[in-house]
Amino acid sequence: MAVTTPPREINNLIGGVLVPGSGEAIREVRDPSTGTVVAHFTESTREDAYQAVAAAHAAFAGWAAHSPGARSRLLLQLADLVEGNLEEFAQLECLDAGKPISAVRDDELPGIVNALRHFAGAGRALSSMAAAEYNPGNTSFVRREPLGVVVGITPWNFPLWQAVWKLAPALVAGNTVVLKPAELTPLATARFVELAQTVLPAGVLNMINGQGSVVGDALVRHPHVALVSFTGSTPAGRSIAAAAGAAPKRLVLELGGNAPVIVHDDVDLDTALPILTNGILFNAGQECMASTRLLVAETIHDRFTEALAASLASTKVGNAHDESTVLGPLISEQQRNRVAHLVDNRPPHARVLTGGNIIDGPGYFFEPTLIIGLRQGDELVQEEIFGPVATVQTFTDDADALRKANGVEQGLAASVWTRDIGRALRNVNAIESGVVWVNNHMVVGPEGPLGGFKGSGYGKEGGTSGLAEFTREKHVIVNLG
Ligand code: NAD
Repeated sequence: MAVTTPPREINNLIGGVLVPGSGEAIREVRDPSTGTVVAHFTESTREDAYQAVAAAHAAFAGWAAHSPGARSRLLLQLADLVEGNLEEFAQLECLDAGKPISAVRDDELPGIVNALRHFAGAGRALSSMAAAEYNPGNTSFVRREPLGVVVGITPWNFPLWQAVWKLAPALVAGNTVVLKPAELTPLATARFVELAQTVLPAGVLNMINGQGSVVGDALVRHPHVALVSFTGSTPAGRSIAAAAGAAPKRLVLELGGNAPVIVHDDVDLDTALPILTNGILFNAGQECMASTRLLVAETIHDRFTEALAASLASTKVGNAHDESTVLGPLISEQQRNRVAHLVDNRPPHARVLTGGNIIDGPGYFFEPTLIIGLRQGDELVQEEIFGPVATVQTFTDDADALRKANGVEQGLAASVWTRDIGRALRNVNAIESGVVWVNNHMVVGPEGPLGGFKGSGYGKEGGTSGLAEFTREKHVIVNLG
């Protein structure tokens, strides 16, 4: 079932009512597999953003008064709605984000349902310090309260996934929410908030479409917004942090990654190759944790890179709507050309082992690519490529591997590949990133905290600490005299 023409009209959701943006420009949404227009929306203005915040602000007291159990039950209904309409959501994510249909149906959407159910349960069991007489003659206890209006600003690479990882913990903790989806990928989020209106009170969940520099900025600066949870690029994160700093208000910043993959000489190649191939090509490499920056022990370099190049080259590339496609298109012509520019401008000491080219035809495709011979200062090593392109550097010993792994501004994710558990754990301890896998890559779930170090941002999503981001602790001290 392909969800196709005519182009859909996307509205904002403000206070339970679907309304178009009141700006002048019409924004077109394209199918990255074909370049055809599949939807459009009218740009929103700053005033539209203020109305969305006002609706969320008005709904807050009523929502916060629900018991955690009552909020949890409504979230479980949202999970059932996504599960009951899973095929439609998979088609929508395929249509504007270019996600291969099999992967989004079998992997991403079940993960989204799982996250909704996780946060629904976790919100019933918030914790803090035990009440006691820490100051003699006085009993201390802690209230964990919602913050108020939370804004979720999402990127185009995981539109509904990112929206759910923000709205679910925020709502279950008693906050109301305004979502601002990425301009390129509003479809699945728009359908989600529309369906959510059958479950949630009006104003509890709102959505506004428009440019980051206009409505995103208006939301970040609004005095009634208590926290902004942002996932996106490092430059946008910097400007959001500057704007939020003026208030000041709380932020969770999930920014770019550039994950090092340390492959030691005792790697189990049969395990590593399919996992790393998937980690390079999943979502066309437009994944902040992608396994695209390989550091390989020089003694196994040739054997490893030849095997990986063969694995990448044998991947089925095609239209995201085709059930057999593994590598689909990049999100846009601009993003595809950006990746091509990085590859074309590789230094003379680098060599393309496989791929390296734009694929002609409609849609925004790029060949699965492996580039060897890179050095630490190269742009292809320092930049997050965000395409189906992996780079290889060699290392001589653990110290050299760790220096190269940590020698970039980002610190989101990493993996270590070895059969030696002692070496694996020594590497884990020394790696500066928020997630480290040993003999695996990109396996995540909502029970554990995700979030970057260094230039990859701060704050956590998921886990106990991710849920706590959406609450504030009030220490109450009662004189027993
Ligand atoms: P982007 O920064 O261009 O846009 C992300 C969102 O921010 C969009 O909704 C955009 O409209 C909005 N925005 C942009 N400028 C803004 C501003 N000044 N004020 C308020 N909102 C603004 O990012 P993108 O290109 O959509 O996404 C790709 C980036 O996201 C990559 O760098 C990737 O690594 C990162 N990402 C990080 C994680 C993580 O968990 N750390 C996960 C997914 C993606």
